[in-house]
Amino acid sequence: MIEFRVEKEKSSFFNPSENRIEEVEVEIRYDPLTGKTSRIVPKPLPISPEPDIEDETRKPEFCPFCPEFVDGVVARDVRVVDGILRRNQAILFPNISPYALYSIVVRVSDDHHIPIQKFERDRFLDAFVLIREYFERAIQKDRTVRFGNIGMNYLKPAGSSITHPHIQATLSRYPTDYHRRIYEGGRSFFSENGEPFWKALIEIERDGERYVGKTGDVEWIASFSPRGFVHITGMSEGDFINSDERELEGISEGIVRILRAYAEMKFNSFNFSIFLPPIQHREGFYTVIDVVARSNLDKYYWNDCFFLPKLHDEGFSNLKPEEVAEKVRTWF
Ligand SMILES: [Zn+2]
Repeated sequence: MIEFRVEKEKSSFFNPSENRIEEVEVEIRYDPLTGKTSRIVPKPLPISPEPDIEDETRKPEFCPFCPEFVDGVVARDVRVVDGILRRNQAILFPNISPYALYSIVVRVSDDHHIPIQKFERDRFLDAFVLIREYFERAIQKDRTVRFGNIGMNYLKPAGSSITHPHIQATLSRYPTDYHRRIYEGGRSFFSENGEPFWKALIEIERDGERYVGKTGDVEWIASFSPRGFVHITGMSEGDFINSDERELEGISEGIVRILRAYAEMKFNSFNFSIFLPPIQHREGFYTVIDVVARSNLDKYYWNDCFFLPKLHDEGFSNLKPEEVAEKVRTWF
């Protein structure tokens, strides 16, 4: 069974500017798959709706991913595809800071900076088609890899060192810590219940107050125990590697709609992660796409990865998932 556990704690203090006792209710929510907790604190975030981003987003004299430099500077693959892969504006090449046995980067666009409401579906689609091709070819050559991930950091608050839009992907024999939690939770749910956790979750969430919408075969919900701001989770029965273009379009379209909602909410920075089902043993698993907004790029921006998420591994959000779904749903 899927349990949605919430604990509440009410904190209070005297607020001199309003001359009254103020009460704030903190929610502690438990992720129904992993048990990972998060805190929802209904207070405004310390971010500016009009951030100063000019210095950081203007086209610099040198950027390794801008069209005039990219061919001359990016690394070349020597193991899987022998060089680089291209599709329209997307270019795939090895990551020079590899995080796994196979670690690649896809430069997404010719444009150096794209405001998040202007990302087009086909920029993501082209990148995902290239990553699928690379993964397919890598797996044919190397049967030892089991865990595939695709992720994006957009702008410095999200951890990106380069403004120019790019996506990273890895294939590894070993899961990341969170991928392991999904893997273990999904495996035990499937053996106890005989159906995938995500199939059961969609059945419960569909038409509920956390449901956001559907793009192609991907169902999107506001995550019950959010690991970041405006945390939206997509779930697809497809395994990405064998998915056809229409399925990848569904993922791309959903991400674009979420980014438009983020822009409307005055965010300019985000992360997403796509967790693939375990390679070769995918029974009982879905492809899971997590998208979160980050604190805004600004001249002196606030880093939202403070001790709670960084050292306690505790999620943090100022909005309840039910409020998040209401705001994002209008873009679906
Ligand atoms: Zn650039």
